[in-house]
Amino acid sequence: MDYNVSQQLRRVVDTLPQGVRLVAVSKYHPADYIMAAYAEGQRIFGESHEQELRLKHAQLPADIEWHFVGHLQTNKVKYIAPYISMIEAVDSLRLLREIDRQAAKCGRTIDVLLELHIAEETTKYGLTPADLHLLLSGGEWRQLAHVRICGLMMMASNVDDEVQIAREFDQAAALFAEVKERYFSDAPWFCERSWGMSDDYPIAVAHGSTMVRIGTTIFGPRVY
Ligand SMILES: *Cc1c(COP(=O)(O)O)cnc(C)c1O
Repeated sequence: MDYNVSQQLRRVVDTLPQGVRLVAVSKYHPADYIMAAYAEGQRIFGESHEQELRLKHAQLPADIEWHFVGHLQTNKVKYIAPYISMIEAVDSLRLLREIDRQAAKCGRTIDVLLELHIAEETTKYGLTPADLHLLLSGGEWRQLAHVRICGLMMMASNVDDEVQIAREFDQAAALFAEVKERYFSDAPWFCERSWGMSDDYPIAVAHGSTMVRIGTTIFGPRVY
């Protein structure tokens, strides 16, 4: 292994305050990198491609908690439903319904986060604050007994301006508080704020993150 995964993982973990969990984003990295992190005690790993995740899940220890962190196509839900620990980037009612349907078939309840779109970039994915309010005020999600909405996830703009990045995390935190009060005041599990990646996680933890998703800093650059 030409990258010191164990050492990098420890360095990251040492900087995280109590109450902030680490998702080690292992997409495009081989199983032995994951095992190096696992040997240090890391158990939550993030992947964003269903086929890659399927292979790793089959091969790696059963007590790994897999988080799906990328955009998930509706037709892929059935493959991960039996074992996925959290689906982090739900951005439509349609996807939420399909997760519910597949989770029911497996006799499970699947934890999910709703993905916010706040960054200025024109990415296709994520709910704008208006979309988020529409989805929640619609109320259908309350009937989906096999999904449990545990919080919000977002990616800040990919810019150098730390003031802008901090402002986006603050916006997300304010929206979280608003939505928590309005829809989830009786739901203690609605507590996760998944923001912060390799380039911006120190800012994220200073601005309300409870879960950081870090790949490159731990595993080195991805080879696509
Ligand atoms: C790849 C990915 C990450 C990790 O990014 P790094 O910059 O390598 O830390 C985090 N979140 C999501 C949604 C990703 O797709």
